[in-house]
Amino acid sequence: RVDRRQRSDVYKRQRPDGLNSSGVDVDALKAWEITTGSDEVVIAVIDTGVDYTIDDLAPNMWTNEAELNGEAGVDDDGNGFVDDIYGMDFANNDSDPMDDHGHGSHCSGTIGASGNNGIGIVGVAQNVKIMGIKFLTARGGGSLEGAIKSIDYATQMGVDVMSNSWGGGGFSEELKNSIIRAKEAGILFTAAAGNSRQNNDARPTYPATYDVDNIVAVAAVDSRGQLASFSSYGATTVDVAAPGVNVLSTTPDGLKSWSGTSMATPHVSGVAALVLANEPEISMEDLRDRLINTTKPLSSVRGKVASGGLVSAYYALMNEQPPVDPDDPWGWEKVAEQVSTDHPYANDANQEWTLSVPGANQIAVVFSRFETERSYDTVDFIDANGTVVGTMSGSHDGGCLLYTSDAAT
Ligand code: CA
Repeated sequence: RVDRRQRSDVYKRQRPDGLNSSGVDVDALKAWEITTGSDEVVIAVIDTGVDYTIDDLAPNMWTNEAELNGEAGVDDDGNGFVDDIYGMDFANNDSDPMDDHGHGSHCSGTIGASGNNGIGIVGVAQNVKIMGIKFLTARGGGSLEGAIKSIDYATQMGVDVMSNSWGGGGFSEELKNSIIRAKEAGILFTAAAGNSRQNNDARPTYPATYDVDNIVAVAAVDSRGQLASFSSYGATTVDVAAPGVNVLSTTPDGLKSWSGTSMATPHVSGVAALVLANEPEISMEDLRDRLINTTKPLSSVRGKVASGGLVSAYYALMNEQPPVDPDDPWGWEKVAEQVSTDHPYANDANQEWTLSVPGANQIAVVFSRFETERSYDTVDFIDANGTVVGTMSGSHDGGCLLYTSDAAT
């Protein structure tokens, strides 16, 4: 059983323009000055289907012209599937990928709700073609077999990107092989990191964690740039972050604001669509590198996702690294130190270390690993003026920034 990502619609706040507030977004407005997308780019949304009758989605649906203009009941284009006009439905084993759930239509709107029509929302790519491939049922579950058939159909039809806001089940060699077939066809595969707030490096989530290098695994952040409380992560197995909290998008029942790595993933697919529109000849490998290497640095996801940042349509199109904030200690010169207590140590013992960087104006203490016995042992941080600027206890893994001191010691 392959389960749809859990979603939550408890978030009530909606923004009429469908964009996240306060600048933590994928820079779509700036990107649209360069391109709004292209009808030549095809994104397969592998999900619960797509409601192709939604006003905002209908103009951007991929259509199989041979089937649209062909005879009912006949495989007009000879691809082995009869009447596959908008895609396929491997949940009900027919050729109508109509969405009877909502999840796939929501993801589709984020990728490519059409722009400038005065209704609803605008997707990251205003012009794009969305192929609906359904293998998740009305209840949101799906089979391994359906997932593999979906990926293989999209590969056969030669899409540019497969957007995968789903996951679950154990390792499957067959599923992995279908993703490898997509890779060999030069197709990017975006995948939700999952909503289990777990470290995927330690506990894999499939398909996001398969070691196939067309996969871009996506964590979710909120509009303030914080890693979403539900989001799974992984310093090596999750690649990028994208907005995934309170995302307003299209469903068969109107616009809904939903949260999940399911909602973050189609943002990345939409950014990929813009890059492909602007650079039709870019290879899948270069496209993947571009998405990862042009992320905007975000302290909340450092040590949590490999790129340490949020996907940006603008910087991806410009092929530029976003500017580094000079006040951000992450960009400062690094001086490595390792400190630990004697073993064993006596009760009520105090130990003191001095960290000194001659010539520095400020010092930030960043831990790659911090381990003390929670609430029994504490570490106080005292600046050169003798002021306690921070206290820590317990265990922390990966890139935790404790404090910044103006004093050089
Ligand atoms: Ca056909």
